[in-house]
Amino acid sequence: MGIVHQCLDKTGLIQYIYIMRVKFWGTRGSVPVPGSTTIRYGGNTTCIEVEDRNGNLLIIDAGTGIRALGNELMRRGKQGPIYVFLTHFHWDHIQGWPFFTPTYLPKSEFVVYGHAKSADRLREVFSYQMRTPFFPVKFTDLPCSFSFVPVDEDILKIGNLNIQTIKLCHPGGTLGLRVWEKKRAFVLMTDHEAGLKDKQPHLYTDYVKFASKADLLIHDAQFTADVLPTHKTWGHSSYQEALQLAIDAGAKRLGLFHHAPEREYNDIDRFVDHCNQILERKDKSLDVFGTMEGMVFTL
Ligand SMILES: [Zn+2]
Ligand SMILES: [Zn+2]
Repeated sequence: MGIVHQCLDKTGLIQYIYIMRVKFWGTRGSVPVPGSTTIRYGGNTTCIEVEDRNGNLLIIDAGTGIRALGNELMRRGKQGPIYVFLTHFHWDHIQGWPFFTPTYLPKSEFVVYGHAKSADRLREVFSYQMRTPFFPVKFTDLPCSFSFVPVDEDILKIGNLNIQTIKLCHPGGTLGLRVWEKKRAFVLMTDHEAGLKDKQPHLYTDYVKFASKADLLIHDAQFTADVLPTHKTWGHSSYQEALQLAIDAGAKRLGLFHHAPEREYNDIDRFVDHCNQILERKDKSLDVFGTMEGMVFTL
């Protein structure tokens, strides 16, 4: 799965080269849901690993999926700074951090990005969940080093990755990301109510432009169209809205993301099937899938 470029090195051996690698460690929204019916898509809340071709590591969101990523980084013996981008501070996007083992190593260095007015404010919000009585270890007792970078709608450079941010439609606000290098683009729009067109921070057409021609678009698909009328202003989209935005943007692939806790694997399979039926009716071609823990894409 994913796009792999091949070339020959001086010895004639095939080398696999990618611009970036994207791996999902948590794709669930709201609350972790372990259990037999969530094994296939996963029960951990949002966490995505993005690695550029030089091994610079960007972690998007620190939901419960980050715990397993931390263990993997320990196995890899990851060196150098780790960049952490928080789309927003709802529990499902931050609650894994206290269980992220690299934060307990003196040599670890983190650069944390998030939507805040100042670095101090970002630090305060990020560290709040480790205050007494919520957690036994204080943030100020962590031995690693942190720097905090407040982000609004900006263009950033992290390693080889260019990142553009956009405010999405969600209670309290959240940031979407377009991550690209050499014309390969990964776009994440989670916790976004695509259908609330009159109250968005931006016009629908701006979001379409933001996701334009994405090689991989990962979009909030918490709801279905039939429950939307009773969930207006909750800050999430139906999978049908995610599909329409992907079609309008000309995205190559769409990953349904931020699965509602009650979704079992056959529900998400059904949503993907329905998306494919809609695409066939509209005579459009697009690769749609439900994002799963452990899924890897190379772009
Ligand atoms: Zn969420
Ligand atoms: Zn949220």
